[in-house]
Amino acid sequence: RIVYLNGDYLPEDEAKVSVFDRGFLFADAVYEVTSVLDGKLIAFDGHVQRLQRSCDELGIKYTVDADALLEIHRELVARNEVTEGMVYLQLTRGNPGDRDFVYPPEDTPVTLVLFTQHANLLNNPKIETGMKVITVEDQRWARRDIKTTQLLFPSMAKMMAKAEGVDDAWMFEESAITEGSSNNAYIVKNGKIITRHLGNEILHGITRAAVLKFAKMAQMEVEERAFTVEEARDADEAFITSASTFVMPVVEVDGKPLGDGKPGSVAARLREIYLDESLKQAV
Ligand code: PMP
Repeated sequence: RIVYLNGDYLPEDEAKVSVFDRGFLFADAVYEVTSVLDGKLIAFDGHVQRLQRSCDELGIKYTVDADALLEIHRELVARNEVTEGMVYLQLTRGNPGDRDFVYPPEDTPVTLVLFTQHANLLNNPKIETGMKVITVEDQRWARRDIKTTQLLFPSMAKMMAKAEGVDDAWMFEESAITEGSSNNAYIVKNGKIITRHLGNEILHGITRAAVLKFAKMAQMEVEERAFTVEEARDADEAFITSASTFVMPVVEVDGKPLGDGKPGSVAARLREIYLDESLKQAV
């Protein structure tokens, strides 16, 4: 596999980052994952805009050049012959040469890494069966709107789900669901789509923004507000969204089947609209 590191395209085992890199020592790094369908990038603009926002919020001096980043994405997709999968991008505050909590001078070069992964995104077997989730207390830091690489708690939550024999964990804070371990969470009640409002408590999903826009265009009722664990267990249906899963049905919360226990029609419809529209706009 060919990866990108600070201006070079290299075989993956030749791409080396310093042990003093702040991404490695402090998780002082942001990332983006853009999915690839048909060899094209889905929602690319949204991802680079969020990358800029993440950098700005953390005071990482970096100005996104969307055209240059698009070129790198395309080059990697082509070189690695990715027709379906994703491009992972990570940007760190760089390597100050020593371990120090204080940020290095602003002119310290950032570290920029991109790599690709092949994956079967469209034919995910969970579309047919639906996902099962458990709820766990959200123990992440308070700025989840910044897409940092501090992913230890989401990783632990995923392991808790795995230990329970289910697919994912939805996290809650003060009994209200924030989001899934790596996705935004939605319930449907009496035909209404309910998902947590934007704020510092959740990542502002690029897929979320698109799906809510399409839902409103299709005259579906949307309510952006915190919903409780209780409401989730009692929902008619539920689903998640993320760049790599698009829209995926959830059929069970904490061992309780939702509705008839089968993937719901709202999730199916939104998945179809999302894929149609996103493929049209893919670059
Ligand atoms: N929330 C969290 C915590 C995530 O990690 C992700 C995926 N990166 C999402 C939501 C979904 O965001 P997006 O639609 O931009 O992939």
